[in-house]
Amino acid sequence: MKKTVLVSGGAGFIGSHVTVELIGAGYEVVVADNLSNCDMTCFEGVKKITGRDDIPFEKVDFCDAAATEALFAKYKIDAVIHFAAFKAVGESVEKPVLYYKNNLGSFLNVLEAAERQGGCNVLFSSSATVYGQPEKLPVTEESPRQPATSPYGATKQMCEDILQDTVKASGGKIKGILLRYFNPIGAHPSALIGELPRGVPNNLVPFITQTAIGKRACLSIFGDDYPTPDGTCLRDYIDIVDLAKAHVYAVTRMMEGKMDEPCEIFNVGTGRPVSVMELVTAFERVNGLKLNYKIAPRRPGDVTAVWADPTRANTVLGWKAERTVEETLRSAWEWEKHLAGK
Ligand code: UDP
Repeated sequence: MKKTVLVSGGAGFIGSHVTVELIGAGYEVVVADNLSNCDMTCFEGVKKITGRDDIPFEKVDFCDAAATEALFAKYKIDAVIHFAAFKAVGESVEKPVLYYKNNLGSFLNVLEAAERQGGCNVLFSSSATVYGQPEKLPVTEESPRQPATSPYGATKQMCEDILQDTVKASGGKIKGILLRYFNPIGAHPSALIGELPRGVPNNLVPFITQTAIGKRACLSIFGDDYPTPDGTCLRDYIDIVDLAKAHVYAVTRMMEGKMDEPCEIFNVGTGRPVSVMELVTAFERVNGLKLNYKIAPRRPGDVTAVWADPTRANTVLGWKAERTVEETLRSAWEWEKHLAGK
């Protein structure tokens, strides 16, 4: 019998790539999304890539406890990967209640449904944002979490704690994995799925590709006076397909009962720091184009540098980032051109 994985927020950027990899690995996937921050474009792309027209899609708002409950009753869910959350840092500062209500409420409903069915494997999509500006780099999973600097970041920390406590209290019925993502970028090599930001992108790579295609006039590089080799911030950019594959390893580890502890944490990164300027230059080089950019003031809240020590994921999960930054930046550009119909 194939095992079934529920992907909450499965129509979005990360969820759609994860769905493709899960199906490729032989899992049945139920995709559920309230479509509050995406449309069906990526889900349609997932069906094309996998050649599967029968992937169940459920339009569900996980803040609706009864609907969440009904979803678990309808399918036999062996594992749930929880993505359904709001993710704009700036907006979370302006609308904290909205963020706490949505991001905590949806996760609590998922956990309640998991408890009610007698147990489940739960993978939570966390973020390197929990490390803030680390004192020591690269960061391991043991590096201390720093106080959150936005409600968005606070919800990631709170959901981590909620899952840890729930696993602890469940007597082995609920198992958990927290994946802490660094900076996911790029798109599927088919260019059929990718990032679809609504409005002006907050993240660097969508802003780069939209500038290159002519949707934005000029990229602002936020600060070139940081204490880094070229003065711009350092991040660990992780290819979206590599990131998606980490989920397959993690889910399989839970399903096979191979965990060392009932709730485990893994950094999902490359271990390779790349500056904003290096990324911009690499994008220009691999795609053979010139980008219109300018140096702008620092963006409030940005940390100077953060990158992963991915040793635990490499050795314990057996997962490793494989695609080069060049391949990833090429795929991001192919996706942008696909969107523009070019
Ligand atoms: N960045 C930039 N211009 C932009 C967007 C981002 O210079 O239009 C920089 C940002 O200051 C940070 C890096 O790119 O140093 C990555 O930012 P992003 O928002 O993609 O991810 P974050 O690391 O903030 O989660």
